[in-house]
Amino acid sequence: MSAPNKSYDPVEVEALKPEEIERMRDEALAAFAAADSLDALHEAKVAHTGPASPLALANREIGALPPHAKADAGKRVGQARGAVNKALAGRQAELEAERDARVLVEEDVDVTLPYDRVAPGARHPLTTLSERIEDIFTAMGYEVAEGPETEAEWFNFDALNIGPDHPARGEADTFFVQGPEGRGESGVVLRTHTSPVQIRSLLQRELPVYVICPGRVYRTDELDATHTPVFHQVELLAVDEGLTMADLKGTLDHMVQSLFGEGMKTRLRPNFFPFTEPSAEMDMLCYVCKGDSVGNPDRPCRTCSSEGWIELGGCGMVNPRVLTACGVDPQKYSGFAFGFGIERMLMFRHNVEDMRDMVEGDVRFTRPFGMEI
Ligand SMILES: [Zn+2]
Repeated sequence: MSAPNKSYDPVEVEALKPEEIERMRDEALAAFAAADSLDALHEAKVAHTGPASPLALANREIGALPPHAKADAGKRVGQARGAVNKALAGRQAELEAERDARVLVEEDVDVTLPYDRVAPGARHPLTTLSERIEDIFTAMGYEVAEGPETEAEWFNFDALNIGPDHPARGEADTFFVQGPEGRGESGVVLRTHTSPVQIRSLLQRELPVYVICPGRVYRTDELDATHTPVFHQVELLAVDEGLTMADLKGTLDHMVQSLFGEGMKTRLRPNFFPFTEPSAEMDMLCYVCKGDSVGNPDRPCRTCSSEGWIELGGCGMVNPRVLTACGVDPQKYSGFAFGFGIERMLMFRHNVEDMRDMVEGDVRFTRPFGMEI
């Protein structure tokens, strides 16, 4: 009887030694336990159960064993692979459960959150106030007239009786877009007031003319709390037969009563403007104290500085020279005009203290005014 062939003894095949198989199994179990993600577990699975894994290679060795050794080695390898697969499935289930729990937290959708709370914008109070003023006058039969913001010097100055030497024409106030190209030519400026629209209206329309001209105007001011280089004006022009200063006064009173309520009135103070004669500054009664703060230190008024009146703008009867420049017979027709700044009106009507708030476009400023003021 010969000794078993050593080379066919499973104990002697290195990969099939019991302790070697246990080591392979333990390495696989340790690798699975150490895998902290499904990706890491997949790598460990390939390394320890794939075709090139130690246990798979050991399994291949079994085929070369003599029959009596095959069962024994096959049983050990099979048990080890069974344990490895079981551990793999267990770890896989654990990691999937962790992932599912994490996804539930990370991808959580709070269905109670509001889905439609997108802050709506708001129309700018300068626009709504301007439209409100337009409404007051269109209800009285006026038409809204508009004109270009880059304007010929002739329309902006000459036709309004503002001669070449008038200080308002200087570069200190006016943005010049283009100088006069030849003698007698008119340069181009950014309009410094909406008055050129009145001239255009007189030239284009049949008499009588009743127009209101709202719009953007430009002057070379620095932006600060009380100045802005771009601002808005409303000007009004009425030219008809027999118009007098009394018509102007009545129109102004109607406007302030429409804007600020019953009992409001205006007063006129003599002034000078080249395009009106006579000219006046118009004040309106302080809509807060109605004049009660005057001489009454116990009831001071911040809005009018206890003066009882608020300066609104300029007005007057249209200068006959302006009518003549527009081809209107001043012997037959007369007219009145007035204008004021919408920013200034908004400031005292709504206690806006800094003009910069109006131009910065912050919706937090415009929203409180809502859609209507
Ligand atoms: Zn007051």
